[in-house]
Formats: sequence, C-alpha cells, structure tokens
Amino acid sequence: MSDSAGTGLWWARRDLRVSDNPALLEATGRADARAIFAWTPAIHFWSGRRIGHLARVLWQLRAGLGGGLAVRRGSAADVVAEAAREADAPVVWAAREFSPSGVAEQDAVAAALIADGRELRLTGSPYAVAPGRVTKADGTEYKVFTPFRNAWRQHGWRAPAPAADLTAMSTWSRHDGDVDLDQMAAHGDTSDPWVRHPEFREDRILSHLEGFMAGGIERYATERDRPDLDSTSHLSIPLAFGQIHPRTVLAASAAVRGDGPRVFESELAWRDFHADVLHHHPSARRESLASVLSEEDWLTGRESDEVFMAWRDGRTGFPLVDAGMRQLQQTGWMHNRVRMVVASFLVKDLLIPWQRGADHFRRTLLDYDHAQNQLNWQWVAGTGRDASPFFRIFNPTTQAEKFDPERRYVERWVPEVDTPAYPSPIVDHKVARTETLALHKRAKAARAGEHRPD
Ligand SMILES: Cc1cc2nc3c(=O)[nH]c(=O)nc-3n(C[C@H](O)[C@H](O)[C@H](O)COP(=O)(O)OP(=O)(O)OC[C@H]3O[C@@H](n4cnc5c(N)ncnc54)[C@H](O)[C@@H]3O)c2cc1C
Repeated sequence: MSDSAGTGLWWARRDLRVSDNPALLEATGRADARAIFAWTPAIHFWSGRRIGHLARVLWQLRAGLGGGLAVRRGSAADVVAEAAREADAPVVWAAREFSPSGVAEQDAVAAALIADGRELRLTGSPYAVAPGRVTKADGTEYKVFTPFRNAWRQHGWRAPAPAADLTAMSTWSRHDGDVDLDQMAAHGDTSDPWVRHPEFREDRILSHLEGFMAGGIERYATERDRPDLDSTSHLSIPLAFGQIHPRTVLAASAAVRGDGPRVFESELAWRDFHADVLHHHPSARRESLASVLSEEDWLTGRESDEVFMAWRDGRTGFPLVDAGMRQLQQTGWMHNRVRMVVASFLVKDLLIPWQRGADHFRRTLLDYDHAQNQLNWQWVAGTGRDASPFFRIFNPTTQAEKFDPERRYVERWVPEVDTPAYPSPIVDHKVARTETLALHKRAKAARAGEHRPD
C-alpha cells in the first residue's frame, strides 16, 4: 500500500497534545486520520488522583481532536493492532519511548502490527534531545551533569512542529473496550481551592507557560528553592503527560533574558540527563548504580514499617518533612527542595532503601515520570550518576529555617505544628546522622577490602 493510502493512525502515549506533535502531524497527513490510546492494566495501579487526571487530559484531547480519539482497555499491542485493523491503517505513528517499559511496549506493538502486514513508525520523543544523542567525542555517555548540559545546549533541539491539520480526523464506532472517561474523571478530589488545579486544557497550559515567562521566571534563579514562595513553573505535570513538549517550553524561555531562564533551562537539562542515564542503564530503574551501605545496614522488619508509615503519613515530628509528605498526599505534587529533604530523611535518617520511597512517590505523584523519579531518588541517596555524595545529609530543621523562614509552608500543611497534638521527632537527627556516616565509612572500607573488626 502506498504511504498516503488508508487511514493514518496516531497511537497517543505520553504525548497527549495537539500542538507541536510530530506523530499526530504524520498521521493527519493522510486522507483520513484517527487516534488511539491504550488504557493498559498498569494504569489500575496508579493512585485514584492520577487516574482521574489522565481521564480529564484524555477527555480534553478527544474534544481537541473533534472526537477522533478512542480510549480502549487492553495491552497496547492488542488495542493498537485491533484499531489499525478496524481503521484499515497501514502505518501507525507514535512518539518513541526510552524507558525500559516504554521500549518493551513499543516492541510488542511493532511485532503485532508486522504480524498483520502493518508498520509502526516512531518519530519524536518526550525529550528536548532524545536519550543517547548527546555523547562525548568518543561516542560514550556523559557521566557528569555539567559537561552533559553543555553538550546538550550545543546539540540544540528542533523548533516546535507545525500545527497538524485536523480536517482529516474522523470518529470511531462504539467498542466494547471503550473506557468511560466521565466515570474515570470522577477519581480523585481536585476540589480543594488551595490546591493549584492542574490544568487539563492544552490552551490553558500554553497560556500558563506564557504567564510564567512573562513574570515568575525573573525570580526563578533566586526563589526556586523556596517552597513558601511557590515560584516554580508547575509544568512537571503537563510535561509528564506530554500535554506540552519541552522544546515548546525551551523556545519560550529562549526568548527571555536573564539568569532565571538559564537556570530554568538547566533544570530541563536534568530531565534529559536522567532519561539518558536510564537509557544507558535500564537496571537503574530498581538497582543502585553505586553502593553506599552494606546490605545488612538497612532497616528491615516491623521497625522499618513503623517509621516508613510515619514518613508516608507526615507524622515524623520534623515539620518540613511532614509538610512535604502532606502536600504530596493532598495534592499529588511536592516542591523540589522538599522532595530532596524528605528523600534524604527516609534514606539517611531512617535507613530505608530508596526504592521503597520511590515506590510511594510512583503511587502518589501526579507528575510521576519513571526516569525522573528513580534517578532523582538515586541522586539523593548518593547511588546515582553525578549524585549528591552520600555523606551530604540534609538537616530537616536548618533546611526549614533557610527555605521556609517564616514557616508559611509548614503552617499551611501542618496546622497543628505548635500544639501538643503534633508528634515528637521519631529520631534524633544528630544521632542518626553520626550513625549513618559511621555505617557509610565502614561499608566504604569493606568495599575497599580494608575493613578490620573493631
Ligand atoms: C526524590 C525526587 C523525586 C522526583 N520525582 C519526579 C518525578 O517523578 N517527575 C518529575 O517530573 N520530576 C521529579 N522530580 C524532580 C522535581 O522535583 C520536579 O520536576 C519539580 O519539583 C517539578 O516542579 P516544577 O514543574 O514547578 O519545576 P520547575 O522548577 O519549574 O522546573 C521546570 C521543569 O524542569 C524539570 N525539572 C526540575 N527539576 C528537576 C529535577 N531535579 N530532575 C529532573 N527534572 C527536573 C521538570 O520537568 C520541571 O517541570 C523529583 C525530585 C526528587 C528529589
């Protein structure tokens, strides 16, 4: 069949937008076009809030495509292959994924389509520069962030893709596997007026970006670490769902002068760096890239469950840690500085392996992104690439004094902080720090083959 014959099918993945979308652009280049999203069994392990959010995003996307998107239950391979048969689409277009599960999924879809005499074509990715592209002169990966970022800047990225012409979009017939998005959208509660409502409409996200570039970005370089001032972009949620592409964000920041935009771009470079690390080391999704303690040093059993639950529920007696964990519980988002503090507290004060904290974040974060979550946890734990050294242990009290000096953030999320109802600290930070550093030293010596019993 020729390239322009039949329907162009867009398999929507983590690129749930109409604008700046190369895969949609290709699919709509035909006489007839449609879009399909696979509501896979993995989604049922998400938090209710994240499921509700996805449903609202898909609802808006379907409206934006004039009804041309079907959302069906099943594995991606089954759903996409069946949709391609139904639409008589010789070619399916999709954005390329680089995470281990995304790669396995696109391989399965490609195989199912080939078995049917059809083809999967991948174009674009969720990153400004696709993982694996930025390499040293000898073709190997960068292990340190700053040279990666410099090479990343030099490599540059494409301009946003032209707008797709949606006149070719047509609608689907009803199907047994259709997901009721109205019903799914009822999951999770976004009615709390304080919660900064994650926006579902693409045009709202674009105007939010415009507003941020016209205002907040100026203060970004100096205020981004202050959870009380809430001056970061809040773009992580639309970026995670692909409601906006990083190159659209970078194109907007490039037009603004000053330190703010440059620091902001550097954060987006971290996003690409972490994806690059996971691409080169797929095992980093579960395994530490470097060892910091001996296996037996980590807390296990009932004691670990008790302290883990106190951390999870925001009852540690450390106000900044508890404020962060409650913000996460109540909104599905947490400020970056506080994410670092709570993660350090779990791993280094409570001696709980980073994977357990990462699993909790996976279930609760609205902006959950496999590469960003796992590699940021590894960064804090001191086990990742170019990570914070293990001996850097955040002091949750001085961090609060420095980054929430008037206690506005803490008082917002822990209103009982100054009353007898607030729990006492579950550990003595000073003691925990000394013990953890001693364990680290011992483990290091053991690794170097120098360990001698006391
Ligand atoms: C333990 C831990 C877990 C994390 N898990 C995730 C996650 O699952 N998903 C996620 O998107 N971010 C994660 N982050 C990174 C960061 O906390 C969020 O991206 C940021 O708080 C989002 O808020 P914002 O959009 O207002 O950020 P801004 O400060 O406005 O930054 C702009 C964008 O840059 C990117 N960015 C900023 N900081 C980082 C960073 N440290 N690493 C990678 N990208 C970054 C994000 O895409 C962000 O939207 C995690 C950080 C830590 C310490």
